[in-house]
Amino acid sequence: MNIRHAYVHVPFCRHRCGYCDFTLVAGRDDLVERYFSAIERELSRVETPLHLDTLYLGGGTPSHLGPRGLRRLFGILRTRLASAAQCEVTVEANPLDVTDAFVEAAADCGVTRVSLGGQSLDATTLRALDRDHAPVDVVAAAERLRQRGIVVNLDLMIAAPGQSVADVDRDLEAAVGLSSEHVSVYCLTWEKGTAFDSQRRKGLVAAVDETVERAMFERAIDRLEAAGYEHYEVSNFARPGFRCRHNEAYWDCRPWEAFGPGAARFDGRTRSTNHRSVTAWIDRVLAGADFTGDRDAMTDEQAARERIVVGLRRRDGIDRGPFLDASGFELDTLSGSAIGGWVAAGLAIDDGRRVRLTREGMLLSDGLWADVLGA
Ligand code: SF4
Repeated sequence: MNIRHAYVHVPFCRHRCGYCDFTLVAGRDDLVERYFSAIERELSRVETPLHLDTLYLGGGTPSHLGPRGLRRLFGILRTRLASAAQCEVTVEANPLDVTDAFVEAAADCGVTRVSLGGQSLDATTLRALDRDHAPVDVVAAAERLRQRGIVVNLDLMIAAPGQSVADVDRDLEAAVGLSSEHVSVYCLTWEKGTAFDSQRRKGLVAAVDETVERAMFERAIDRLEAAGYEHYEVSNFARPGFRCRHNEAYWDCRPWEAFGPGAARFDGRTRSTNHRSVTAWIDRVLAGADFTGDRDAMTDEQAARERIVVGLRRRDGIDRGPFLDASGFELDTLSGSAIGGWVAAGLAIDDGRRVRLTREGMLLSDGLWADVLGA
């Protein structure tokens, strides 16, 4: 199989933000050396080096490794993961870590894009989100990256506790002022087992009302589109030519490799997820034991239905011909009645060749997928 995309999970953070349930350890830098050894060992699964079109380092906070750690990790990765020409290499970063030395190391390692976990440019909202950086750190980080010619993908979070629509408007103005090439906008989710979830259960914080959350998201679409960003996927906005090619590979259901704790790889039919405990993953990899946590093997039909869901999250929607070629199924056989219902309700447009969601459909998208997946 010709795999052109890879993800590497770097599970270290300075502290765990109250809403976060990702696979990570906070304040456990003592594990970094063993992590490097385990990554090196896991990479040996790959017999012949992969020639990648995209490589994505996510976490956790890959930038927490610092300039030396980043160079060290790329030194290990390059033994098995080679960049094809024009390879997109993305690293997620906390604004606090984006020093001159870090930017220098990133550029030397071939990083072309930094996903900057800004979340907000308002000090009160950042505190409400339990983040450890200030607005000025986001601005400084974006400026350093731009000076070095590294593309900035700014992450923004909306529906933070206590946040108003006017606060979101101010955040959007500030975000547009940063002129990053790409913006991702996510609504805060209250995941079970997080500090935020337990505070909410005790009545100490409240979630933003759903209608307010929706208004916030609509403001984000309006403001970012007016500033020249293309709303090309439910949560993602890009200036022309700056879509995230790595995420596009996921949405095209192309196969990808993945390494590190909790990392999920996909071979076109089966999604295999590494053990989500950082220490268990390290111990198992280094002991030569099975370190895969879950294997989710899809039937051809399940894979085709999943292709519909990820396809419709994109503004381009689904073209019936390529869908049939890639999945072996007619789109209408699997979801003709759902599509008809969405069109009648103004949630989708169907020109006979291509189906795509309207803005209303995009806003409701998570509520539509059960119609396709039969869940
Ligand atoms: S920095 Fe990101 S990955 Fe780390 S705890 Fe906070 S939200 Fe989670």
